[in-house]
Amino acid sequence: MPGFELFGDKERKEVQDVLDSGVLMRYGFDGMRNGHWKAKELEAALAKRMQAQHVHLVSSGTAALTVALASAGIGAGDEVIMPTFTFVASFESILALGAVPVLVDIDDTLTLDPVAVEKAIGPKTKVIMPVHMCGSMANLKALKEICDKHGLLLLEDACQAIGGSYQGKPLGSYGNLGCFSFDYVKTITCGEGGAIITNNETYYENAHKYSDHGHDHIGNDRGAEQHPFLGYNFRISEMNAAVGLAQLSRLEEFLSIQKRNYTILREALAQIPEVIFRSVPEGGEENYSFLSFFLPTEELAQKAHKALGENGVDGCFYWYSNNWHYYKKWDHLTQLKSLGSLPQEVKNALPDYSKSDFSASDHWMGRTISCLIKLSWPEKEMEERALKMVSVVQDTLFN
Ligand SMILES: *Cc1c(COP(=O)(O)O)cnc(C)c1O
Repeated sequence: MPGFELFGDKERKEVQDVLDSGVLMRYGFDGMRNGHWKAKELEAALAKRMQAQHVHLVSSGTAALTVALASAGIGAGDEVIMPTFTFVASFESILALGAVPVLVDIDDTLTLDPVAVEKAIGPKTKVIMPVHMCGSMANLKALKEICDKHGLLLLEDACQAIGGSYQGKPLGSYGNLGCFSFDYVKTITCGEGGAIITNNETYYENAHKYSDHGHDHIGNDRGAEQHPFLGYNFRISEMNAAVGLAQLSRLEEFLSIQKRNYTILREALAQIPEVIFRSVPEGGEENYSFLSFFLPTEELAQKAHKALGENGVDGCFYWYSNNWHYYKKWDHLTQLKSLGSLPQEVKNALPDYSKSDFSASDHWMGRTISCLIKLSWPEKEMEERALKMVSVVQDTLFN
């Protein structure tokens, strides 16, 4: 997955443009910038690639989620449905606005289970936020139908799935809003950065203002700008955008390398009947950033994960016991360990996460192994890597 593996001349050239003019800020300084508007150029390029009318860049994927929610008017007491398997950014972005994260089970797609989602909807539900973990998507058609039925927004967290698609649409562009991360370990990187995409003009207008202190961005005089509402600073810098511009131009190259490496490993593992691959919803195409599969039991998955590491097959994750990506280790959320006090209204509205039953999620996650697909793996070593994976998994299953 990580675009940093193939960092090179293109990235250096884009960054050099910014260093040459010295304008590191995305707004203003028109006369000094030698015609370089890296953030604007990256927004235009992303809009084209993602078939979206509007794109706004921000400082991170977490910021993108926060700004996307804020742009749609989500605030105190509003409930946002999110999966039990995701990065901590999901609930951080919701809590940042005083809204309420409602955790919901995943299914064999490793993303939101539409049946569980529908059960979790209440009078305060405003948004369904599927997270396309490890390069593949939720059943977006089913989730969209639920949203339409209940008048909810669909916000896609496509931070780990850039370049994947669903029913011919780029992931992130199917819902009302989509978010991407360009942090250092994502498929394409800006160092740090994120983006919000939408076809809704109001959300877009709100997003660019909110992420720049509420400035209205009208006219050429920054000092004369008005503030229609309160905002914050989630701006991206020209340096980061410059790196992203080079990386986005290489997205198709990265995706084809990922697909090649993924396919070699998958075809080898498919020879083991006990190995079942994560389910990809009909009409979906992964971005091939991870290869995820289930073993018959939790014990076998744990053993295989350990053996893979010990035998030098790097990059395999057992998310079930991972500190960042599964609800079981989110003590800071469940015990509400905030630095200052959270507003009482928020505290009162939060569910008692410790009493929830997520055994359906445990059923899948306990048996899941995900292998990161690297861009830097030499093609000639792939067969050897695949054979090793197969032999380690077979040894675990049959010894
Ligand atoms: C990386 C990631 C984020 C957050 O992105 P940052 O740029 O690191 O803030 C959000 N959601 C998912 C699924 C991610 O993988």
